[in-house]
Amino acid sequence: MKIIGVTGKIGSGKTTVSDLFLNFSHTEIINCDRLASSIIDSNYKIQQKIKEKFGLKSFFEGKLNRSYIRDIVFNDKEKLQELNSIVHAELFNELKKELKKYTSDTKLIVVEAAVLYEAKLFKLVDKIIWVSSSLEIAVNRASKRDHSKKEQIINIYNSQSYLENLKPYPDFIINNDTDLKSLKKQVEIIYSDLEK
Ligand code: ATP
Repeated sequence: MKIIGVTGKIGSGKTTVSDLFLNFSHTEIINCDRLASSIIDSNYKIQQKIKEKFGLKSFFEGKLNRSYIRDIVFNDKEKLQELNSIVHAELFNELKKELKKYTSDTKLIVVEAAVLYEAKLFKLVDKIIWVSSSLEIAVNRASKRDHSKKEQIINIYNSQSYLENLKPYPDFIINNDTDLKSLKKQVEIIYSDLEK
């Protein structure tokens, strides 16, 4: 069994790349964004800490008010670090537990995580894929998908790490500035490399 981490900036194509791996049999995907959301929704201690730091508005009807939190953290680096320090350690532990659930039936586990580096999740994977899209393309795609403000997406994009600063450096880099056909081809090349 191999575990690969798929990461990259907002709108770069992490989910699209991860889904392409499902074309290969015995492949499973773990979406760390969803894992983090379920941790926040179910963990009372974490909810209390978030409310202490970000106020009562940070939750609405028991669920994290994501757009409110996003507006705060992606305009203020210190706030982003505070949120990270609340959630990331728990995410690391949960992912570790989650990975242990898979049996030898599974050949490949794809861990999709925007915070692969920030939450040190790279320590739990065998190989790292970085999905790269230019600012313009990523912002256009993400804003179309979420109907969200371009300005907010640009802020998030610029707050995230750049490829040249990553340690450890990714094993594979996917260029997602073109079409889905090219993306599929790049995924196939990586898959055959992983099989070696
Ligand atoms: P986020 O960080 O916001 O979760 P992401 O990195 O997972 O985003 P995706 O959701 O995979 O990115 O892609 C963003 C949008 O762009 C989606 O609507 C997706 O369908 C579209 N998209 C991704 N890659 C391509 C491509 N090569 N050609 C056309 N559309 C694409």
